[in-house]
Amino acid sequence: MKIYRYPTKDSWKDLVKRPVLEQKEISALITEIFTEVKKNGDKALIEFNHKFDKADTQSISVTREEIENAEKQVSDELKKAVQQAKENISKFHASQKQEIQKIETMKGVVCWRENRAVERVGIYIPGGTAPLFSTVLMLAVPANLAGCKEIILCSPPDKNGNINPAILYAANLCGVSEIFKTGGAQAVAAMTFGTESIPAVNKIFGPGNQFVVAAKEYAQRYGVAIDMPAGPSEVLVIADEQAVPEFCAADLLSQAEHGSDSQVVFITTDLKVFTETISAVEQQIRDLPRNELAAQALENSSFVLVNALEEALEFSNLYAPEHLILAIADFEKYISLIENAGSVFLGNYSCESAGDYASGTNHTLPTNGYAKNYSGVSLDSFVKKITFQHLSKEGLQNLGKTIELMAEAEGLFAHKNAVSIRLEKN
Ligand code: NAD
Repeated sequence: MKIYRYPTKDSWKDLVKRPVLEQKEISALITEIFTEVKKNGDKALIEFNHKFDKADTQSISVTREEIENAEKQVSDELKKAVQQAKENISKFHASQKQEIQKIETMKGVVCWRENRAVERVGIYIPGGTAPLFSTVLMLAVPANLAGCKEIILCSPPDKNGNINPAILYAANLCGVSEIFKTGGAQAVAAMTFGTESIPAVNKIFGPGNQFVVAAKEYAQRYGVAIDMPAGPSEVLVIADEQAVPEFCAADLLSQAEHGSDSQVVFITTDLKVFTETISAVEQQIRDLPRNELAAQALENSSFVLVNALEEALEFSNLYAPEHLILAIADFEKYISLIENAGSVFLGNYSCESAGDYASGTNHTLPTNGYAKNYSGVSLDSFVKKITFQHLSKEGLQNLGKTIELMAEAEGLFAHKNAVSIRLEKN
């Protein structure tokens, strides 16, 4: 835990740094994995399952029988919870559909946009340290709502060569087309190039560890699109004097337990809340099954005392957190000051877990400061927006002179002629 009391603004740029693996090291590994998968397809994936996940897999395709068996292993109670979450996520993402709006920019000139689904999408479901079946809902639900024809899912197998039953249950519930046992950079490479079993996709979605993020970035050079860089989780909590230290501690630990490379930041204006939150973190971590991972993440995490909430918001905008919690009384007053954040949780009862699982918002969010220039996954992530226009004869007469003048000024006479030839025909 790094503790900073009233740090000066010129020190902030160091405080907002994320823990990262040596970039050169990762790049070489990713290139090697992509080359291997391109050359040897499924065989390479089976070998990587052995090497990185200690799993012996004869085949990487998940069979219908495996899905049916998995469904039997998921309790009715958990199934109900997953269904409830799916309902809320569907409701929120369906509300993002927009009516087509035809705009007459001038008499006789009509422009509009229509959505078309990305045909074949690949969704990566993390499974290294925790089987994130919630991510299946976050990606497959909007993919289906958008009308994607094929939804391919990849997730790493466990040591017995299986994908977690809850992942298979959620995938089946949400209409995933095919499921494959492969994780990390090799799964991203497989969805990029295609293998004997895995089809190449148009766009790859999903969070993951630093290997997955680096692989998604690398994949773009082969023409595949990605949702965004969604890497190791982060949360930044801003608290005032009415915040509940136990709640703040629980929220901080809920992100710290994701992995040793996760990061949490706590900022408060109140000395009592500051010291009590640190004590609550130290106490609550003892009872967590993943306390070792959380403790490693805390080593890279900061607890910051500042003079004013405005200052806390300014720090947060510089950090650009994946998740931002405002555990402050007048949160509404501060919403307009938020410039950079993936998803925001307001007040003492909006715990981040709500958004992680079931409130309806998407949990696939930009990390590592990318909230400065990326949004989280939404319905729009699964569509291309095509623009249309129709100019009537009158429309071209109204706009023609403007186009001719501009084309001529750019020296593009064929462009000008495409207008002139039509106007002269009258
Ligand atoms: P993962 O599925 O992302 O990664 C596991 C895979 O990493 C393994 O299958 C293996 O192939 C590969 N790997 C592991 N060690 C390797 C090594 N030394 N060399 C090469 N490859 C290696 O699962 P995870 O590790 O549990 O990570 C999940 C991540 O997703 C966490 O960091 C979590 O914070 C993050 N997450 C982010 C969001 C978001 O929206 N940003 C949401 C949920 C989870």
